[in-house]
Amino acid sequence: MIFQNNLSPRFINLHTHSPTGDPEVVEIENVYFGQETMHTPGYRSVGLHPWHLRGIDLDAAERWLRELAVSPEMLAIGEAGLDKVTDTPWEIQLDAFGRCLRVAADTGKPLIVHCVRAFGEIVQMLGHPGNSRRPHGVVFHGFDKHPQTAGMLLRAGCSLSFGAALFREDGHAAEALRQIPADRFFLETDVQKLDIRAVYARAAEIREISVLAVQEQVWENFRHLFL
Ligand SMILES: [Zn+2]
Repeated sequence: MIFQNNLSPRFINLHTHSPTGDPEVVEIENVYFGQETMHTPGYRSVGLHPWHLRGIDLDAAERWLRELAVSPEMLAIGEAGLDKVTDTPWEIQLDAFGRCLRVAADTGKPLIVHCVRAFGEIVQMLGHPGNSRRPHGVVFHGFDKHPQTAGMLLRAGCSLSFGAALFREDGHAAEALRQIPADRFFLETDVQKLDIRAVYARAAEIREISVLAVQEQVWENFRHLFL
């Protein structure tokens, strides 16, 4: 693993679709079934994205997922989840998400969750934190909701990853990040053209700590859940 030679905290981009190859950033590139290209060599998460399920053979997709999931550069399963706004039929979404949950639990890899208006349903599918059929780590990515929703997910044993929403005027995500326990958050750029350093700087401002302190905390959280 590349981490052994470098113990100093770096920037971690928990979820991106466009890795930059920046040597100071540990990036997890998201790869979904049906995606044509993977970018730089490096860490990845693999999953069945609810936007990209129409017309696919889910048995074949699960075989693809299980084959890739065991390789060491695959740090997580996902993004996977439920989305009430996309037009993918709900039954297909439930089937695909259930498969991703099982693969994560079977391979011992954490799960990166995509969720649109389905927080209650996903928490119910996850079951209790002690449940042995549940992935050992669950991170809701791109979190942009109120602190109350954050609280519900935290009580269910999940972590949250924040990105572009931290810069928004309404400030819900910023407020959620201000209140979240230190050991439960990550930072990301997702599809945005953002430098992850800017997200760290914004997180430092919100939590009223130094960028170095944010780096140390996210590094610790990353090591705990992903390595
Ligand atoms: Zn994404």
